[in-house]
Amino acid sequence: MKNTITPDGNKIAGIFCNFFGHHYVVSKKVTEHIKEYKCIHCQKQVTTDERGKLSPLTPKLKEINKTLEDMYHRRNRRRAIGRPERKRVA
Ligand SMILES: [Zn+2]
Repeated sequence: MKNTITPDGNKIAGIFCNFFGHHYVVSKKVTEHIKEYKCIHCQKQVTTDERGKLSPLTPKLKEINKTLEDMYHRRNRRRAIGRPERKRVA
């Protein structure tokens, strides 16, 4: 049993979303401004695009986000090295 969501369940969730709109929750933080979201009802995935609007999460956008995330973390790491944080180990 890999998938507990039946095709019927998905269809009902899709109708629900059509009426009430998607209920997105953040599924992944890419950068400070770009996040990926997932609808808790129909599992539809969207992401913030370069204009700050939500776009369907296509494989291409996923790839772009992965690159942005990489750059974002690398920049943060460099900043961390520039200002080392010392922790005392008891
Ligand atoms: Zn939905």
